[in-house]
Amino acid sequence: MFTNSVNFATNIIISGINNNKLKNDKPEFSRITIKVGSNVITQSDGSLNDGRILRIVEDVAVLNKQGFEVILISSGAVAAGRGEVHPSKKTNIIAAKQVWAAIGQVKLMSSYQFLFGKYGIQAGQLLATKESFRDRRHYLNMKNCISAMLENHVLPIVNENDTISINELMFTDNDELSGLISSMMDCQSLIILSNVDGIYNGDPGLPGTELITRIDKDSENPEKYISSVKSGFGRGGMSTKCSVARKLATHGIDVFIANGTRDAIISDIVRGKPVPYTHFVAESKRETGVKKWLSHSDTFAKGAVIINSGAREALLGDKATSLLMIGITSVKGVFKSGDIVRIVDVDGHNIGLGKCQFDSKKTEQNIGKKLNKPFIHYDYLVINEKNKYNVQV
Ligand code: GLU
Repeated sequence: MFTNSVNFATNIIISGINNNKLKNDKPEFSRITIKVGSNVITQSDGSLNDGRILRIVEDVAVLNKQGFEVILISSGAVAAGRGEVHPSKKTNIIAAKQVWAAIGQVKLMSSYQFLFGKYGIQAGQLLATKESFRDRRHYLNMKNCISAMLENHVLPIVNENDTISINELMFTDNDELSGLISSMMDCQSLIILSNVDGIYNGDPGLPGTELITRIDKDSENPEKYISSVKSGFGRGGMSTKCSVARKLATHGIDVFIANGTRDAIISDIVRGKPVPYTHFVAESKRETGVKKWLSHSDTFAKGAVIINSGAREALLGDKATSLLMIGITSVKGVFKSGDIVRIVDVDGHNIGLGKCQFDSKKTEQNIGKKLNKPFIHYDYLVINEKNKYNVQV
């Protein structure tokens, strides 16, 4: 079924590349993450929409052939498996989803491999879990793998490992995963494709409602326009997209939320064509190395320590300061040495987070003591500068 349409599309792409060289080769697009939601590539009955996958593949292929480094985050595994097996009454819904993902991920990747293969592009799979980001060694292994794939012109296609990521081990959704991968891989931009054009300043069905095209650090928080109602097969909603986008933009990555059911939307955005989308404009700050890993790990923290006012002042001051045992007043949760732990003040404000050098038991035993070894060394500590989030621990 694919072959004819692929040949047809290939012709269009080849002529497009020859005659229509990208005008806009702005550096911020040289390495891009593209996240494709389940709602983009599934039909109303939940089965995979092969025609739409083909359109996405041809769009990505254009960029790939132009030398852009693209990392694809694709949902759709569970949806792809759903029609294949009807689990028995004995199988609960969680196990059913695991079975669907086990079947569907293979189907999804076969489609991608076949279609990218038609354009001479080798695609490879990477399945991640929360643990892959929580543990720095896993994190670096994953980063090295994707770097090596890109170096060897293999297009990485990433999804959550839905067969083993259950409940609290799960990412909120693939929007969260796409943010983590974009940050880890130092991408300049992330394009999140769903089945709407972006964020609206009201109900899109009502007259006078407009698409918000640009959000920067001075814009009002767009969350107030977002309804929590979610439609379709994916786990994600506009709210997570928005919070992922705001966070990435703060860390120097441009984010576009756009409609993946529009043909050529990806290359149109990269070319700077006036297509509909919501653009979260990147701020200049970019973190690197350990600090970057930490600043994107706040949802993975294993526990927290409460600190006294002296430690709070020292950490929020201008000098780089480690967190010492003497500044800790209590411990929440169970953690091991090397885990990521949140730092919270007595009023419950989230001051920052870091990689601890003591487990929770030893920390409890040493609270308030003067030790030479800091609880968190400043090289492994990230302060929430805006200190604006209230966190319940
Ligand atoms: N990883 C899930 C899948 O492939 C989708 C998660 C999401 O919708 O964000 O089915």
